[in-house]
Amino acid sequence: MACDRRDFLKSAGVVGALAATAAVGCAQPASAPPPAPERTRGRGMARGLTLLTFLRDGQPHLGARTDRGVLDVAEAGRLLNVFAPATLDDLLQHKDGPSVEAVVTAALANETAAPAFLAEEGLEYGPLVSRPDKIICVGLNYKRHAEEMGVPLPQWPILFNKFNASLNRHGGEVRLPMDLGGEFDYEVELVIVIGREAHRVSEADAPSYVAGYATGNDFTSRDLANNRGGQWMIGKALDGFAPVGPHLVTADQVDGDDLAIECRVNGETRQSSRTSDLVFGTRALVSYISNYFTLKPGDLIFTGTPEGVIGGLPPDRRVWLKPGDRIECSIERLGELRFDLV
Ligand code: ZN
Repeated sequence: MACDRRDFLKSAGVVGALAATAAVGCAQPASAPPPAPERTRGRGMARGLTLLTFLRDGQPHLGARTDRGVLDVAEAGRLLNVFAPATLDDLLQHKDGPSVEAVVTAALANETAAPAFLAEEGLEYGPLVSRPDKIICVGLNYKRHAEEMGVPLPQWPILFNKFNASLNRHGGEVRLPMDLGGEFDYEVELVIVIGREAHRVSEADAPSYVAGYATGNDFTSRDLANNRGGQWMIGKALDGFAPVGPHLVTADQVDGDDLAIECRVNGETRQSSRTSDLVFGTRALVSYISNYFTLKPGDLIFTGTPEGVIGGLPPDRRVWLKPGDRIECSIERLGELRFDLV
């Protein structure tokens, strides 16, 4: 039987083909995996989408919410034989918004993709993103929160950071290191997700650098933040202390500077405010931070927490969080982030 070596080289790669040919003499093209479809759309931010990360066999998958359920974007791409990024990190960092929009539109119009739609109930969420280049946080950035903490309004944004190991997921657990520190506190925060590289951008241009928004919690040990020599980082950046999710809502659908924001502990409302109380709004933050650090697609900015934290209460009324507590954070239009303390 003739063996079309040229076609096989094209589909399987030269190294694999040579090895296979050496082993069996004539490779069987039918057994070679089809080549992955190449990107045909341009680069840019996604619009009009609510995106999420779910876990399957422990691996993160990019999902898009639709009227028919959550679309497994990579699976839809496979069924439709079109390019699709595998994860939300990939979408953001490679600016594959147009490709994802095209997959979602095609999947909704084509029965071939029907198996890629999943019921949202029962999905296990993953960390919304896993490998941002930077996670930058802003302290004391709501007027009424600065008042409750007894400090003047900051003249400049107060910046600190978390690490990728701090990232946590909707439906996840935050482990409290009771032996190291205490005074555990919640901080519901609007999270800005950067969509393209931003270096010294103006406030007027800042919105065009934002891919979307998410609900987050700048989980904190006040003890480790306040009683360790004048830094906040170890009280803020511990493993798992940055839950984000469940969704990334693309920026075209949301005014980040005017959203209701709320946090509940075991069902009791503790924080209830609006992002319009921000000292430095989303435009000012993106612009200011981009002066010092080049923001990359996929970077996160935790914008600060409103009033109502435990640390803002008079000392005799502070009852710190403990294992067994359930935290629910919600921001208008962005969805509810839930996690448990263990
Ligand atoms: Zn905070």
